[in-house]
Parts: sequence; structure tokens; C-alpha cells
Amino acid sequence: MRLSRSFLPTLKETPSDAQIASHRLMLRAGLIRQTASGIYAWLPAGLRVLRNVAQIVREEQDAVGAQEVLMPTLQSADLWKRSGRYDAYGPEMLRVRDRHERDLLYGPTNEEVITDLFGQGVKSYKELPQVLYQIQWKFRDEVRPRFGVMRGREFLMKDAYSFDISYEAAVDTYRRMMLAYLRTFQRLGVRAVPMVADTGPIGGDLSHEFLILAPTGESGVFYDGALDTLDWLGEPVDVDNSASLDKFFSNVTSYYAATDEKHDDAAWASVPEARRREGRGIEVGHIFYFGTKYTKSMDITVAGPDSTSIHPEMGSYGIGVSRLVGAIIEASHDDAGIIWPESVAPFKAVIINLKVGDATCDALCEQLYAAAPEQFLYDDRTDRAGAKFADADLMGHPWQFIVGPRGAKEQKVELKQRATGERFELPVAEALAKVLGH
Ligand code: ATP
Ligand code: MG
Repeated sequence: MRLSRSFLPTLKETPSDAQIASHRLMLRAGLIRQTASGIYAWLPAGLRVLRNVAQIVREEQDAVGAQEVLMPTLQSADLWKRSGRYDAYGPEMLRVRDRHERDLLYGPTNEEVITDLFGQGVKSYKELPQVLYQIQWKFRDEVRPRFGVMRGREFLMKDAYSFDISYEAAVDTYRRMMLAYLRTFQRLGVRAVPMVADTGPIGGDLSHEFLILAPTGESGVFYDGALDTLDWLGEPVDVDNSASLDKFFSNVTSYYAATDEKHDDAAWASVPEARRREGRGIEVGHIFYFGTKYTKSMDITVAGPDSTSIHPEMGSYGIGVSRLVGAIIEASHDDAGIIWPESVAPFKAVIINLKVGDATCDALCEQLYAAAPEQFLYDDRTDRAGAKFADADLMGHPWQFIVGPRGAKEQKVELKQRATGERFELPVAEALAKVLGH
């Protein structure tokens, strides 16, 4: 994209209402704009990041056998009356009435819709397991929307739902999903620690929240420092094998890690003192087994092996896709701006033309740009060099090609890596190879 023709409204001033770095940087780098309290428009660069995050989430869901669907944002109140949650959900639910006086709601989550769809489509235990997911906007009328997209009212969530024939099968599905989550966060360039979470009335150990450690996180966390370096994905896992899944799960959950809601003093005391870490974290995902809660309340059964009928065992699995964009920035920025992990960056590199109008500089920049116009942002504005450098650092492109008249004469560019600050003086072809091969 050519910067002179693009809609990338960066701000020089720090927005006064933004309290945390990621929110300030998302506004300043022109990624989002608020249109109403807790409701945001995603501008071109922001949308590219959001889509990159969603695509990685999608690929890792697909890799463990989940199938993508897309459910509507508006749901019928009748479904929620069947599960008994319509009244129970409270003021976080946005309720709407249509012209025929029918009650609708903007979905805050989708257990009811998916359970109903499953019931209409699946008749026999032979068709299990089924794991369905979507990446769709949710609305929750949060009491205190804040920190930009971190706690919005409208936000993008990946929500998956699983249906299994037995508790044992549901446990395997749960563990497979934990694997998918750890792979997802690794590819996103962040470390999200799985922590024991509340299971509500169901009990057991099958609820985990995934937290990115950050001082601005809303949850207090307690964990064993051994987790700072543990390689969860070091060993290959056979997702079709219960024993392999069990081994993986035991390895991941063998160290103490809990949010303040589930913090347990007795278990904490058994963590060696030098390894006890207390801090704050941002919840970016939550996986949850809840058994037959919805299949029973909504009366959904499938035929079992010997002419019995069975209420399938369910779990649900959320990832905060839009929250992740903020959380990644919270975990990866400096005073100058964002430092995008390459996997989610809106552009892989920016081409900074220091002398627009100079034939040699222009030609060299065009040559670089033509190598990957989809992945490069070409700063072809006539602005001062200082302003271009500041914008490049602010927007956080992993690489900067800096093209000035002196180097251009020798067909050389300066390449700067945003994350390390390292600079290289390279012939054009080598600079391109370094960036595109990365
Ligand atoms: P929180 O405790 O932060 O309100 P939650 O427990 O209500 O989260 P879930 O219902 O488990 O969240 O939703 C799944 C994921 O959706 C969360 O892990 C989080 O990443 C994201 N999420 C939840 N609420 C919001 C919100 N208001 N804005 C942005 N993302 C959200
Ligand atoms: Mg919530």
C-alpha cells in the first residue's frame, strides 16, 4: 500500500482518555477509532492485524478437527428461555424487540444456538465427537468498558463448542483444545499461561484461563516461576491418542498457576519460595467443560449404542480475538511505539523514501515495493524524514527499508529491524531476501 493514498490517520498527540499503552498506541497508530462507548471501528491497518490474529486462531482450530460455522449476532430470546438463561443473564445482555414485538438479543455467547443446531443435525453417537467454532462479534453491555479493545462492549471472539459421547471423550477433546490454544498463542508471538479457573457447580479441574502476564492486566495471578521457561510444546502430541494427550496435559498443568479467584494458600505454600511469582495478567482465552448442562436443559439427545438415548457432554472454548490485538501490544512495545510480532504485523516492512522526487530514490523504492506490494507499506509522502521515522516506529513494522540518495546511487539500502534496533547496509537484493525470507 502507498502511504500517500492510504487511510492511516496517525496521531502525534497522546489521546488523554487512554489509560494504558496499548490503547494509546492503537489510537495513535491509526488502528481503531471509538464510535460509541466500548464500540470501535477497525481502520485498514488495524483490520489487517485483526484478520491475521483470526487466521492463526482459525488454522489451529482446524488443525485439531474443529469445524468453522458462522452464527448470527442476533438471537431469538426463545432459545435462551429454553435453557433458562434469558432472565438469569442480567444487564450485560443487550435485548432488542423487533417490529412484531418479538424479543431478540445480541449474542454475548452462543451455547444455546449451537446446542439447538447440533440437536437438529446430529442423531447418533456414531457422529460424535463434534467440535464447531465461529469467529464472530459478541456484545456484552459491560458496566465499565475500558482500555480500548481490551474490555469493549462489542468484541470479536472465537467461540468453540464440543459434543462428546462420554466424560472420558470430553476430557480428550478438552486437552486437544488446550494444545490448540498453546500453539495459537505461540504463533501469535505471546506467552499465555494456562491457569486453573472456576468450574462453577460442575467441579473438577477442567476449566483453564490463559493469561498474558502484564502489569496492566485486570486479573491478579499467582504462579510457579518454573513456568516462565517451560516448553509446553516441546514434545510431539498425537491428538488421536488419549495417553499422549494425558501426558501433554500433565506436563502443562504440573506447576502451580492460578488467578486470584482460584488462588489456594495450601497449594501455594508447597511452591518453593524463590519460585513464587505474583503479578497481573490479561485473560485472552478460556476453556471450560460443563457436561450436560445445556443438552439436558434444552432436552437434546442422540441415539446411544444399545437403543439408549444420551445427552452429549459439552465444553466451550473462547479466545478474545480483538482483545488479543491490545494484549499483544501490551506485551510488545517500547517508548517509540508498537513492535509487531511478524506473524500478525499489518505490513511486513515499510519502505521509507527519504527524498521523494529524486529519480534514483524513487526508482529504487518502486523496485522494492514491486517485490511484495501486498506485504509492504511504501512511505512515499513528501514529509520530513524525522516524521517518517517516527511513524514507522510508532506503527511497529518488523522491518524498515530506508532509502536515501547516497545509498541509492550504489543500489544500497539501510535495513532496520524494529524489535532489535539492528541496522544493516545492504544491496537491494540482499535486503529483500533478508526480509522476505524471514
Ligand atoms: P472477563 O473476565 O475478562 O470479563 P469472561 O470470563 O467474561 O472475561 P469469557 O466469557 O470466557 O470471558 O469469553 C472468552 C474470551 O473473550 C475471554 O477470555 C476474553 O479474552 C474475551 N472477552 C470477554 N469479554 C470481553 C470484552 N468485554 N472485551 C473484549 N474481549 C472480551
Ligand atoms: Mg466478562
